[in-house]
Amino acid sequence: MTDNGSSRTLRDVVCPFCGLGCDDLTVAAQGRTLTVREGVCPISEVAFSAHPEEDRPRTDGQEASLDQALARAAEVLRPARRPLVAGLGTDGAGIRSALRLADRIGAGVDHLHGAAGMRNTAVVQTTGWITTTLAEARNRADLWILAGSDVGRRYPRFFERIARPSETLFEPPPNQRPIVFIGPETAAANLPADDRIERIPCAEDRIGEVFAALRALEAGRPLFEAEPGGVPAERLRALAERLPRARYGVIAWDAGELDFPGGDLAVEAITGLIDQLNAHTRWAGLPLGGRDGATTFGQACTWQTGFPGRVDLGPGYPRHAPHQLEAGRFAAEEADAVLWISAFDAGRLPPDTEAPTVVLGRSAMAPEREPTAYIPVGVPGLDHGGQAYRMDGVMALPLARLRESDLPSTADAIAGIEQRL
Ligand code: SF4
Repeated sequence: MTDNGSSRTLRDVVCPFCGLGCDDLTVAAQGRTLTVREGVCPISEVAFSAHPEEDRPRTDGQEASLDQALARAAEVLRPARRPLVAGLGTDGAGIRSALRLADRIGAGVDHLHGAAGMRNTAVVQTTGWITTTLAEARNRADLWILAGSDVGRRYPRFFERIARPSETLFEPPPNQRPIVFIGPETAAANLPADDRIERIPCAEDRIGEVFAALRALEAGRPLFEAEPGGVPAERLRALAERLPRARYGVIAWDAGELDFPGGDLAVEAITGLIDQLNAHTRWAGLPLGGRDGATTFGQACTWQTGFPGRVDLGPGYPRHAPHQLEAGRFAAEEADAVLWISAFDAGRLPPDTEAPTVVLGRSAMAPEREPTAYIPVGVPGLDHGGQAYRMDGVMALPLARLRESDLPSTADAIAGIEQRL
């Protein structure tokens, strides 16, 4: 850290905003204003600099002290018979505290990216899968397939850090590693200009058909369609012939973008192809995701309940309820109180509900319906330290405190509610 009067330069800062976990940012801090100077991307540029001013707690629409807001939150949650604890976009300590509170009040639990998580979980639970880590993929992948994901927009430094780094431990050199993108043209437009990236246009909701066809071809079976998933069969045949020749192939997808009926079947088609290819050579999957603490939540929820998400603690024991616990539906139809947490992103708003709602949100959050209690909390990695898992789930990264703040962390706010229950 360099201290220059009231302005400081912070180096090797971890970015908690998209799941890639870049840990090489240089950030200038001037009072509460943060500016990413090096390692910047369109997401971090906005996320670090947004809302430097601190918000005030509110109860029933009126400005309140923190103590009053915590007491009002406890009043909402104490008598609830079917509460919901959701959002959970925060750091490891905050998530663990929220799960502890959910257990105490018998709540249903869902992360704000629960739908994406369940698409992957459904496949892990039924067939299992073979996946890799960011470091393995970065160093070893000699053939990449990007399955539908708008990587360039959702993980802006993916190419620089993972698929096209400046150096790797093993051959071939990074800039000679072929990448095949299969997906919509809108996402293809966000790929870097690179003649080693082949683009195969395909509608998002037909990705599963394309990978089912690749599975058939890889198994030596005929195709009965001229254009499976809208892709000419000849093009898929040519790709299928290349797959077994890779020494370490990686297929990356983002379940958050497979948001259509049968999205989990698209994941299953991808992971099934990976299974088949491992009979000949080495292939692995790389499930992209992890924004808003999604991977941290999956890890902590699994440790504490045995399930990776959408768990009902109401019965007095954890019950996995992947459909019933969808937060939007549960909040609208079943919940009699809601605790919503989004500490990274003020734009992630609580679900619409008639039930009294407690919001622990990033400063400047503006829910459409005024919460019964609103408590602005610090942003993990900006206002307070903590830990967050990056998307591959093998690495908990340390988040630093970059500026002075009076805002409580999520964990502190929840501890304050618990004391008043
Ligand atoms: S790519 Fe993701 S982790 Fe890296 S700087 Fe951008 S938002 Fe942060």
